[in-house]
Amino acid sequence: MVIVYNMKLTQKFKLMRLNRAKRESLDATINRFKKCANDWLRAIEDLGEYPTRGNIHAFAYKRVREKFKDLNSDVVQEAMNRAIETYRAWLRNPKKGEKPIFKAEIVSFKAVNVKIEGHFINVPLLNGRRVWLPMHVPPKLKHFLKLTHRRVQISHIKKDYYVFISAEVEEPEPYEPKGWIGVDIGINHIIVISDMEGKINKFYDNAISWKKRVELKRADMQQAKDTETNKGAWRVLKRLSHKNRSKMSYINHSIAKELVKLAKHRRSGIAIESLKGLRRRKVGRRHRKRLHKWAYRDLISKIEYKAKLNGVPVKFVNPRSTSRTCSRCGYTRSRVNGRWFKCPKCGFQLDRDLNAARNIAMRASLLALKGEASSP
Ligand SMILES: [Zn+2]
Repeated sequence: MVIVYNMKLTQKFKLMRLNRAKRESLDATINRFKKCANDWLRAIEDLGEYPTRGNIHAFAYKRVREKFKDLNSDVVQEAMNRAIETYRAWLRNPKKGEKPIFKAEIVSFKAVNVKIEGHFINVPLLNGRRVWLPMHVPPKLKHFLKLTHRRVQISHIKKDYYVFISAEVEEPEPYEPKGWIGVDIGINHIIVISDMEGKINKFYDNAISWKKRVELKRADMQQAKDTETNKGAWRVLKRLSHKNRSKMSYINHSIAKELVKLAKHRRSGIAIESLKGLRRRKVGRRHRKRLHKWAYRDLISKIEYKAKLNGVPVKFVNPRSTSRTCSRCGYTRSRVNGRWFKCPKCGFQLDRDLNAARNIAMRASLLALKGEASSP
């Protein structure tokens, strides 16, 4: 039996330059959508219960629909859904004296109301007016537009408009891997990858150099000084402001993409050290330093997600003593100093992170042989 999983995938398309009439119509719709969502929010407050689609719809739909007759009825319901999300987010983190407010410059549609032909998207705007909007569609996303879509959202971001389309995609069954690529999470490199045969030996740190450059550009002299003296890439990342997290996210995206592509090309699996294992035991200085969880977690989840989409198997392994064990003979040292692993037993020498990555690959291979389940 073939098990087919489905996963939600959202893609972003930039709209081409719109003429004035279309732009105004779109802006007016976005404005009304915002007002509508805020009306829903006030209705949720009146309701005085935890909002669900059922209770809030029964409580206020007629009233809100009457007031927003100029919007498509499904769009009014989408505004309700966004309002529920906004309210729930506010409940999780309520700010004193502040009501939940919907501020997003967006309008969302149900897929049934949206038509897509070629690179044009047709959506219902105010007063039943339907318009065709031209999108930039990269060649590799052409097939995505042919899938069954679930939700479509147009966002006004700075001077541009973007269409976010989500669809359910079938997740292919993972192939039987021919080998494993071990991924070591480093301090001096974001990740270091290697396989048991030593054919793959790669350090992913270029992105960080770029990151460092970006950060150095930031005016603060002290910060610049810190960055120069601090060799730890993850420590630099930790200091990044929220604004820069999107850049981090982009770096993680690029790394995950390249890694998954490489694994797929070689029909290899991806072996990653499990975060659970790291947390459970008492970690050494090296591990504590590199446990900048937000960035690490983001990278892992991106790798997992892209791997799933491409049918690349992923295994999580216990990372215990991977940096102290000789990847050639298996001898475990009590400690390793410096950048190089030197084996006192067989004389093997290798960059310590590459050595760790090879051990991680080997553990995944052993787990696969044993048929053991793995967990993130
Ligand atoms: Zn050895």
